[in-house]
Amino acid sequence: MSQTYLVNDIYASVQGEGAMTGVPMALLRLHGCPVGCPFCDTKETWLVRDEDERARIADALGANSLYAVMSAAQISEYIATKYGRHNPEERTHIITRQSGPLWVLITGGEPGLQPLGELVHVLHAAGYQAAVETSGTADGVLEAGLDWVCVSPKMGMPGGRLVLPEVVAIADELKMVIGKESDFARLEQLLAASSLKPGAVISLQPVSQSPAATRLCMDKALQTGWRLSVQVHKYLNIK
Ligand code: SF4
Repeated sequence: MSQTYLVNDIYASVQGEGAMTGVPMALLRLHGCPVGCPFCDTKETWLVRDEDERARIADALGANSLYAVMSAAQISEYIATKYGRHNPEERTHIITRQSGPLWVLITGGEPGLQPLGELVHVLHAAGYQAAVETSGTADGVLEAGLDWVCVSPKMGMPGGRLVLPEVVAIADELKMVIGKESDFARLEQLLAASSLKPGAVISLQPVSQSPAATRLCMDKALQTGWRLSVQVHKYLNIK
């Protein structure tokens, strides 16, 4: 039997944060997360409850606790039908598309709780590029063939999950949420204990659009050459 996935939501938008800001994407929000970040803006994805399962994704869409169980083929077909098909032979980092987003961003919840290899394979066969946004605390992102891995490490959270060094090691981007000065020390400890890919981008993201945290991140970016990531979608009030 093929792998199935718990899908909370699928919609199209432009990436609002990090190194891929501005890139049009189909967002695939997988359901379930045990990390428990207090600042989480998708808390409705945390709990997997039987009563929240729906037979069709159309009945689960939106920012709510509902989810549908879908195969990789069903997910890919839903995205292609709703947002446009692509020629697999044209799959490329250079945006030359005529129809719909080239990228599918797999996010959550914590998408790494579910093994992503089969999903990425099917998305590639349909002509999409696959990116993931993960807390780094689950290994389903490993050996999945992803085209872009953003690890937003969540350390010391109430769920007690640990950031896995092997996930940090495949990151194309390490995006750290910063609320206070001591968060830089956590980031530096993680960097000291990890080996990052050559060329990996380090982004500093102020928590919840806090002006004080934004100032901290800007100052740090100027000292280090790391990037500032602001959540553009929050400022634009778009999903
Ligand atoms: S890891 Fe992501 S989805 Fe999970 S609690 Fe933290 S911010 Fe929310």
